[in-house]
Amino acid sequence: MFETDLRDVVQRSATGALPSGAEVDEIVARAHARYAGLDEGDVADYIPILAEADPAWFGLALVGVDGGAHVAGDVGVAFSIQSISKAFVFALVCDELGHELVHERVGVNNTGLPFNSVIALELNDGSPMNSMVNAGAIATTALVPAADDEDRWRRVREGLSRFAGRRLDVDDEVYRSESLTNHRNRALARLLQSYDRLDADPDATVDVYTRQCSLAVTARDLGVMGATLADGGVNPVTGERVVSAEACRDTLALLASCGLYERSGEWLFEIGLPAKSGVSGGLVAVAPGKGAVGAFSPLLDPAGNSVRGQRACAHLSRSLGLNLFASDPAPAAAVASTNEGVA
Ligand code: GLN
Repeated sequence: MFETDLRDVVQRSATGALPSGAEVDEIVARAHARYAGLDEGDVADYIPILAEADPAWFGLALVGVDGGAHVAGDVGVAFSIQSISKAFVFALVCDELGHELVHERVGVNNTGLPFNSVIALELNDGSPMNSMVNAGAIATTALVPAADDEDRWRRVREGLSRFAGRRLDVDDEVYRSESLTNHRNRALARLLQSYDRLDADPDATVDVYTRQCSLAVTARDLGVMGATLADGGVNPVTGERVVSAEACRDTLALLASCGLYERSGEWLFEIGLPAKSGVSGGLVAVAPGKGAVGAFSPLLDPAGNSVRGQRACAHLSRSLGLNLFASDPAPAAAVASTNEGVA
């Protein structure tokens, strides 16, 4: 799946800050050019309208915690956010209710199974396991504190809009197409209800969830949304605090283990960043304290993750020093003075 030979791309450690703006521009352009011609993978078609996506679309945007954007390709093409909404709804719920409650009501472990698995729920006594698979995301949306379903939807839309730094709107065609075909998600919600794991009406909650998945964004929006998670919860473009630093930390920890479904381990091993993908081809990868990559390309791997998006992120992670697990040894003088203190 991943390119096994990236020896021509120098691995930088995560120690320190992003390189200069001009260098980031050039590296983003290079990562885009390297994978623009790759046509592995398939466009999703289980939501009928998604099958109409142009397989050639490919946009890449890196947004730094200074608010600067470095872009290449189709960064202005709008697409439905789909599962990437799960990450930001989770952050909003954590912010309002604290992570203990989400941990207890939903869970934070990977299912090891596909995003829309019914078996995962049955195997785990009705626990949806985590908020990044459909069952857990529906349970998480039900936790958004609200007076009624319309108010819940308003809070979700406004919350995600604050992450993006602009008003996000539903793509009505996508919403209609998914609403007519989301029988499996309705079944998951009923099953959750039967296990007393859903804190609101099943059909109404699936409707809010379907609307949140249908919000239209661009790769650039995803970069800004991710950069807000990289910036301790403050949107670096608008300067607005969207969620607490604790909610960001909790969200990124969950994305690291569950953001790419059953391929999360492989992703973390290759790229070393918390991330979230969606079936329309969006991908956001977050480098805490540095910024985030928003990618969009509709060709997907069998787990439902953008192929070009993943490849480009691997390239950027390596060449920009984003991989959280790549460190440089401390300079000798610093080590010596620390040891002196101990002795
Ligand atoms: N709305 C989609 C669904 O519920 C989201 C799935 C995804 O992006 N993986 O199936």
